[in-house]
Amino acid sequence: MKKIYLDYNATTPVHPEVLDAMLPYFRDIYGNPSSVHSFGQKTRKAVEDAREKIAKFLGAENPSEIVFTSCGTESNNFAIKGITFANKDKNCHIITSAIEHHAVLEPCEYLSKKFGVDVTYLPVDKYGIVNPDDVKKSITEKTILISIMYANNEVGTIQPIEEIGKIAKEKNIIFHTDAVQTAGKIPIDVQKLGVDLLSISGHKLYAPKGIGVLYIKKGTKLHPLLHGGSHEKNRRAGTENVSYIVGLAKACEIAERDMDNESKRILALRQKLEKGILGKIEYTQINGHPEKRIYNTANISFNYVEGEGILMSLDMEGFAVSTGSACTSGSLEPSHVLSAMGVPPENAQGSVRFSLGHYTTEKDIDKLLKVLPKIIERLRSMSPLWEDRIKAIKNVK
Ligand code: PLP
Repeated sequence: MKKIYLDYNATTPVHPEVLDAMLPYFRDIYGNPSSVHSFGQKTRKAVEDAREKIAKFLGAENPSEIVFTSCGTESNNFAIKGITFANKDKNCHIITSAIEHHAVLEPCEYLSKKFGVDVTYLPVDKYGIVNPDDVKKSITEKTILISIMYANNEVGTIQPIEEIGKIAKEKNIIFHTDAVQTAGKIPIDVQKLGVDLLSISGHKLYAPKGIGVLYIKKGTKLHPLLHGGSHEKNRRAGTENVSYIVGLAKACEIAERDMDNESKRILALRQKLEKGILGKIEYTQINGHPEKRIYNTANISFNYVEGEGILMSLDMEGFAVSTGSACTSGSLEPSHVLSAMGVPPENAQGSVRFSLGHYTTEKDIDKLLKVLPKIIERLRSMSPLWEDRIKAIKNVK
């Protein structure tokens, strides 16, 4: 049975061109970039070339604004804790949103519990969008940081980052965005967005797991999380992960080259998937904004069934999808994102995220549309919620 992967927001496979670019740095070019000899000079050059490419990819003014980390989680932790610890003498307040990834929510919780930092979690509308006016209204004289994600991992909704950036600049407050789900999918220009800090993660754009970047605008003062050598200009100690850094730069280059075509092709496939599901299966809704959404993501609620049941049944048919966030699946708690959007718990429980990518074909979508209605019909036939619904309809008649 051909396996069909529709979980690209959880992770992506390494692009073959990325792997080719990385391989020599495992085998032949292995010097420590901090070493002065020729072995070290070669890997130092590779790291600095990669930094330059990634700076360009993000629209950064200077390559020194790019700091390599181990993942998106570390980049977010570095941004949030780094700014807070750099302001430790102040009574700190952070503004974030209720729909952030746990890699933002948890550091905020930690700072609140351990250090008494005041955190405001902004609400979102029914599409999952933060209102920039709410950001403005929440700012106090204690506010040191605004952290609002660029695109949401579960529903794909894109936030008005540029507008929030203007507010942050006006009020002279550091602005961080978690762009882990955006990088490689839509163009990013840190200067146009007006962000001071921006996180990306390699494994969401066809580079390996275990590499990330934090863009740090020149002049932004962060306290380091890791102490040791003077790597990354004293901002992140630890020998650079040379091959992965080279891989990430290659992935950014490929994304830039292919983004136009890929976005159109994948959007058409997602539209086909959504039209097919909503047309063939009753009591289904799309969660997320109709237009302001990353083109590869469709989060759909199937009423009267559990998302976990759909996931397992699809898995048996060879499809990989997700319920809620990949990092939290395994728990049957309704997703905090859907809850914040006001999706009723019974609809949130029956939600499935389909995230398409480079290897998704029209045939895959056709196959899914053939298999899924039968799965939903079977699951509903076993669901007490569905039975109640049918009884209610019969009583009305
Ligand atoms: N932020 C968002 C929006 C994500 O989707 C993820 C991963 O799912 C992360 C952060 C964490 O990234 P990483 O897996 O590289 O730690």
